[in-house]
Amino acid sequence: MVITGRVYVPSAVEEDGTVVGMGCFSTQETALNVLRSFLKKSHQVPLQRASVAAWDVDVVGDDAVSVLSEYECRTCPVCHRTTFWIDIERFKAKCYGSACGAWIEESAVEAGVIDCGWPPTRFAEQVEDIDQAMRSLRRIAAKAEAAGLSAIDERFSMDDV
Ligand SMILES: [Zn+2]
Repeated sequence: MVITGRVYVPSAVEEDGTVVGMGCFSTQETALNVLRSFLKKSHQVPLQRASVAAWDVDVVGDDAVSVLSEYECRTCPVCHRTTFWIDIERFKAKCYGSACGAWIEESAVEAGVIDCGWPPTRFAEQVEDIDQAMRSLRRIAAKAEAAGLSAIDERFSMDDV
């Protein structure tokens, strides 16, 4: 094991400002995994924000911490749970709720293009902005609901929509 003197700390902030600690970890990957599994349950506890920070051990003051990623909580356009997390720096959003996984992301290949999708239905679309992406996800969810399917039903078949 390599001793780096750096620890990775995932945390979340509840609606009333209470900070939820999740531990501190020796790798960024573990910290992210811990955070992700916590975000899956964010519809049970009202949360505003979440982040992963790196802390350098034995460093005094603000220089000791750098925020690696920061997320904001929104209501998912598809399953309506508060499990839709937006990465604030790079536009990227994903629903961590079970059986949903709706996502919005800036295209990696084309500038000014937004990709969005809902994996259980294999729905994917390219649009021009975030609002359109939200609308298009809401539309596909409404279609599924009209067909009597719930976005959080684990069993529903992709070909039903
Ligand atoms: Zn969702």
